[in-house]
Amino acid sequence: MKSEPCKDPALIGLEAEALRHSLRRPDGRRNVVNVGDVAIGGERIVIAAGPCAVEPNDSLRLTALGVASAGATILRGGAYKPRTSPYDFQGLEKEGLLLLDEVRAETGLPVVTEVLDPRDVDLVASHADMLQVGSRSVQNVPLLREVGASGHPVLLKRGLMTTVFEWLSAAEYIIEAGGGDAPVVLCERGIRTFEPTTRNTLDLNAVALLRELSRLPLIVDPSHGTGRADLVPAMSRASLAAGADGLLVEVHASPGDSWSDAAQTLGLSSFAKLVGECRTLALALGRDL
Ligand code: PEP
Ligand code: MN
Repeated sequence: MKSEPCKDPALIGLEAEALRHSLRRPDGRRNVVNVGDVAIGGERIVIAAGPCAVEPNDSLRLTALGVASAGATILRGGAYKPRTSPYDFQGLEKEGLLLLDEVRAETGLPVVTEVLDPRDVDLVASHADMLQVGSRSVQNVPLLREVGASGHPVLLKRGLMTTVFEWLSAAEYIIEAGGGDAPVVLCERGIRTFEPTTRNTLDLNAVALLRELSRLPLIVDPSHGTGRADLVPAMSRASLAAGADGLLVEVHASPGDSWSDAAQTLGLSSFAKLVGECRTLALALGRDL
C-alpha cells in the first residue's frame, strides 16, 4: 500500500500509513494498557520498580515489600538478563520466574519481566503480567511477533540506536501480530550519544514528541537512561513533566549488593522520597499517583 506523506508538522518524516496503529488518532484519544488491575496511560502516573535482576536471595521479596509500601504498583525484575558480557550473571531464568510468582502472591504487585528468546515467550507469559522487550531486542522481528501474538501486555524499550520511527515500527510489528490491538507500552531508556559521562542520554525530546504524535502509553526508565542513582530523581521528575505516563525504576533493598547495575540502583528510602516528589508533581500536572 502506498503511504501518503503526513502533513502534520509534528509528524514530519513519519509516514502515517506505516504507523497505522501507533500514531495519534484524529480525536487525540490515547490507548490505556491494563497490567493486572493497573492502568497505564490514564490519568494516574504508574511507577514500576524493583531490582535489575531477580537474585537467589531475599532481595526481591524485601525490595518488593518496600517499593509497594512506598507507592509502586508494578514490580520489575529480570529473570533473563541480556548482559553485555557472556561472563556476567545471566539471570536465574526459570527459577527467577518462580521467585517472581512467590513475591507477586505475597505483595499483590503485577510483574513485568524481560523475555529474550521467542521460544521462551509462552513460558514467561505464564508467569508475568507484562512482557518486557529490552533495548537490545527492539528489532528482533520474530520476538516482536511472538510477544504480539501472546496477547500479553508488552513493554517495548527503545533501542540504544533506534530512531523514533524505528521504535514505533517495532511497536507496529507487535500490534499487527496481535491482530491490530495488542497492548503495547513504550519505554524510553536513553540512547547512545557522543557523551560518555552518563551511561546513556535520556531522550526527553522523544517523550514530549511521542505524547504529541502517538496514541501509545509511554513510560521512562531513568535508571538505564542515566546509569547513576544520584541522577534518577531529577530525571524522573523531568520525565513526568515532559508527559510520561509512568516510570520504570531500579530499586534494591541493599543497592550496593545488587548483582547487576548497582551504580544506578536506588535504595528503599531514596525511592520512597522520589515517589513523594512524583506525587506532588503529578498533582501539579493535573494527574494523580
Ligand atoms: C532492564 O530494564 O532490565 C534492561 C536490561 O534494560 P534495557 O533493555 O533498557 O537495557
Ligand atoms: Mn539493569
